[in-house]
Amino acid sequence: MSKVSVLGLGAMGSRMAASLMKAGHEVTVWNRSPKAADALVAAGARWARTPKDAATGAERVVAMLRDNEASRQVWLESGTGAFEGLAHDAIAIESSTLTAEWVRELGANAAQRGVAFLEAPVVGSTPQADAGQLTILVGGDTSTFEHAQDILPAMGSNIQHVGPLGSGALAKLATNTLMGVQLTAIAELIGMLKHSGAEVQRVLDVVAKTPVWSPVAARVSSLMLAGHFAPQFPIDLIEKDVGYMLRSADSDADAPTIAAARGVFRRAAEHGLGRENMTAVVKLFT
Ligand code: NAP
Repeated sequence: MSKVSVLGLGAMGSRMAASLMKAGHEVTVWNRSPKAADALVAAGARWARTPKDAATGAERVVAMLRDNEASRQVWLESGTGAFEGLAHDAIAIESSTLTAEWVRELGANAAQRGVAFLEAPVVGSTPQADAGQLTILVGGDTSTFEHAQDILPAMGSNIQHVGPLGSGALAKLATNTLMGVQLTAIAELIGMLKHSGAEVQRVLDVVAKTPVWSPVAARVSSLMLAGHFAPQFPIDLIEKDVGYMLRSADSDADAPTIAAARGVFRRAAEHGLGRENMTAVVKLFT
């Protein structure tokens, strides 16, 4: 069993830390707001005062943070950043959903310090994190990927080595972008079907029997029609991810469909829906 530190105990990081503990690893935790660690510490995790303290003596350090800015602070901040505490035989694993550009920059910084580094963003939400059944999209070199197999299966049941650093981020952002485009289209369709006097569920049940339907269409349409908007993956986070994907285009004109989907998420956030589940975009159209 390994000594693992988890940095960032939000909706996903707290569950990933719990899965690592359940698998028997010796877990240390850190979060910007200490209160988030209470339950894990009560269950036997060690609390660290800073990311650097958490990384000191750890064999693996997993970060699960909101965005590029949080990642920069937690790994690199002078005096407290995790890279300053990492031993040379440890592995730094960045699991947050970030831009490929930032992941590569962080990887280059790790290489300069002689620290092994992987990106490992995840697909799946809180139920998959609870069950240790996330899909993990790893970018980095093959031997580091193999060494990290001591802990990744505790958090995920589908672990894919996508390629060099940045490939994991791009695979993750492409996944969420495809989900976001489908989700906004379905929200708009539900609105149009309602306004046209259709029995929405019945019409969608028929569409679902054609080849154009998808697993994500099934899941989000049923949540929208049932009015389930409790946050699993909130609008603010999918808006971030679609925005990160768009940074790979020269301008929004080169990705008009995706840019329009991002516009829908932004509009939802402006309507105060940012913390609700992504399915709450349907409220804009019904
Ligand atoms: P979350 O619940 O909002 O948690 C965000 C975490 O980031 C918290 O621990 C927060 O600390 C920390 N943080 C934010 N800004 C920070 C900063 N400047 N410095 C240090 N820590 C900072 O988000 P989440 O749902 O766990 O998601 C985490 C990552 O996984 C995101 O990149 C997200 O896109 C991705 N993801 C989410 C899901 C999902 O379904 N939720 C699924 C797959 C991937 P505080 O507690 O102090 O605010």
